Amino acid sequence: MHEYSIVQNLLDLCEQNAEANNATKVHRVVIGIGEMSSVEPQLLKTAFDTFKLDTIAADAVMEIQRTPLKAECFDCKVDFVPTMSNFLCPKCGSANTKLISGDELLLLSLEIE
Ligand SMILES: [Zn+2]
Repeated sequence: MHEYSIVQNLLDLCEQNAEANNATKVHRVVIGIGEMSSVEPQLLKTAFDTFKLDTIAADAVMEIQRTPLKAECFDCKVDFVPTMSNFLCPKCGSANTKLISGDELLLLSLEIE
């Protein structure tokens, strides 16, 4: 399942970060999921709670935030917030736009000890 491999990567990141900071415990993991992302937050939490047990993040709590969509117009360089069904530039009407955030999954912060 998609969420499982994400969680594996996330736990790897937790271990790397903890090690780099000489931490022995991870208290909290905050991640951002873009509104366009296909990741299911509830499944992600369940997967995290299953896989964290043998890791440094065994007692960690996962917090999930949704990150909003953001797009950029190549023609007039304006940043705007698109909707799921409308990616046209609100300023010049161009369809020459690109999603710059909202479809990704990010590790926003880690609380370690
Ligand atoms: Zn434009």
